[in-house]
Amino acid sequence: MSARILDGKALAAGLRAEIAAEVAAWQDKSGRAPGLGVVLAGDNPASRSYVTGKEKACAAAGILSREIHLPAAAGRAGILTAVQALNADETIDAVLVQLPLPDPAIERDIIEAIDPAKDVDGFHPLNIGRLVLGQTTFVPCTPLGVLEMLRRSEVPLAGAAVVVIGRSQIVGRPLSFLLSQKGVDATVTLCHTRTFDLARFTRTADIVVVAAGRPGTLTADMIRPGAVVVDVGVNRVPDPARPAGYRLVGDVDFEAVAAKASAITPVPGGVGPMTVTMLLRNTLDAARRREGGGR
Ligand code: NAP
Repeated sequence: MSARILDGKALAAGLRAEIAAEVAAWQDKSGRAPGLGVVLAGDNPASRSYVTGKEKACAAAGILSREIHLPAAAGRAGILTAVQALNADETIDAVLVQLPLPDPAIERDIIEAIDPAKDVDGFHPLNIGRLVLGQTTFVPCTPLGVLEMLRRSEVPLAGAAVVVIGRSQIVGRPLSFLLSQKGVDATVTLCHTRTFDLARFTRTADIVVVAAGRPGTLTADMIRPGAVVVDVGVNRVPDPARPAGYRLVGDVDFEAVAAKASAITPVPGGVGPMTVTMLLRNTLDAARRREGGGR
């Protein structure tokens, strides 16, 4: 293997220490901790584990977290009531609703009910619009984590040819806006399942970001030697040898791609820890903005 491993866990640990110091300074000035409100509906084990991870990270950074856990049957009215309570709570600066909801059809309505000033996931249309316009906003945590990781790893972005595989509203699409905005200055190609001959695009890229949710989406023959590869995918594959009965893999054929790339993110331990770290960063920013502190 020749690629440099972009260690998201180590990067995130350093960033979280920086954020914790900023939180402590903010709390000294304002007299309270920044607050994150989380709405969790139903008992999806993956969602439960993501929410627990976020709450633990908040506690370690000195951020207060308040969870409203609703039964799966709570429905649209119950979830809206919880979001409105957090919107109105003066001790809460940031609100997120853990997705997917038991009824995905209501997700758009619920996201639009979040106060845009507290929308730390950056999914509200107002914040997406601001991102497109290059204005100050809440950028979704995973794309922000990818950008921060590339910057801190000193991967040149200005003028770089970046191929993003996946056009979802939470990862691929916002990432394409972020990387192509003025000041970052990458040239971005956004690919998806209807892209004809994906390898034609990935083979010319300086950086390939894969957010497809399918193991083996990027193989070694699809990149040029020396490319930088960021694997956003998190997939559970059955593994009877593990106590959990599964293991996590990304979207990239890791061993073979690492032998050809110049740098690569592992799964787990790559983009994932950066995502939660960016939630902490966005929550602190929300608190600062609400108190008129800028950023
Ligand atoms: P998603 O909503 O399912 O979107 C997947 C996107 O990938 C779609 O745009 C789809 O194209 C495209 N795609 C799928 N297979 C493809 C292929 N073979 N070739 C080209 N494009 C393909 O998924 P998501 O929410 O963006 O998540 C993507 C992955 O990232 C998942 O594994 C998820 O678990 C992971 N994730 C990780 C983090 C983290 O913090 N590490 C955070 C969020 C998500 P179409 O639009 O044409 O269908």
